[in-house]
Amino acid sequence: MRSKIVAGNWKMNKNLAETEALLTELAAKLPDTNAEVMVAPTFVNLASAVHSLESSTINAIAQNMHFAESGAYTGEISGDMLVSIGVDTVILGHSERRAYFGETDEILEKKVKAALAKNLRVMFCFGEELADRKSENHFKVVESQIKNALFSLDASAWSSIILAYEPVWAIGTGETASADQAQEMHAFIRKTITEAYNEEIANNVSILYGGSVKPANAEEIFSKPDVDGGLIGGAALVADNFVDIIKAI
Ligand code: PEP
Repeated sequence: MRSKIVAGNWKMNKNLAETEALLTELAAKLPDTNAEVMVAPTFVNLASAVHSLESSTINAIAQNMHFAESGAYTGEISGDMLVSIGVDTVILGHSERRAYFGETDEILEKKVKAALAKNLRVMFCFGEELADRKSENHFKVVESQIKNALFSLDASAWSSIILAYEPVWAIGTGETASADQAQEMHAFIRKTITEAYNEEIANNVSILYGGSVKPANAEEIFSKPDVDGGLIGGAALVADNFVDIIKAI
């Protein structure tokens, strides 16, 4: 059975005091839920977030990691470093990493394998750009992103994979995919995984939707059968909004 997940990607927001304040407010307001709730603060505050959340069910996760074990990679963070501070999940392939930091499918395949080798769970993000959707290439683009980074994995690795479909045109734009568009893509992703692996793996992987999810649209998006939760950007920075999105699941 796949799990429901609501994850907040805080990106490059919140200094230490602001991080602590938001975590305290979230922990106090967290509703009863069967969903796994995750937040991804910036690296510099990640260890303190893990510590602050020790008595909470909220899981502090990482926004990224490097594929190398260690070495001369100034400014980078290794999987081992994440594990050493108690992190168990890492976001990889976010569209901002792809667009601004040149992360290709090839690099992401290496990152995914490096993370899995450290027993980290991977929240793998992918999604088409507006031009791809307008030219009706969105299914092809998504298929190749998943295939190139993930289809060389052993079947057993898939229990550590969470997928996050995030159409680039909907991220931070206020424009969201309709619930039907999200469902259509999520069903396509499951079909693609069934063909490459099998139905059991496809049915057991959680597929989150991300892209301008707000309290006002969360319930409709989450009601779709192949949508297992959301990866939330802007709305995760305000406790009440994030809490309302968790309630929607
Ligand atoms: C994201 O960056 O993963 C995201 C979904 O952002 P937003 O919710 O702000 O569109």
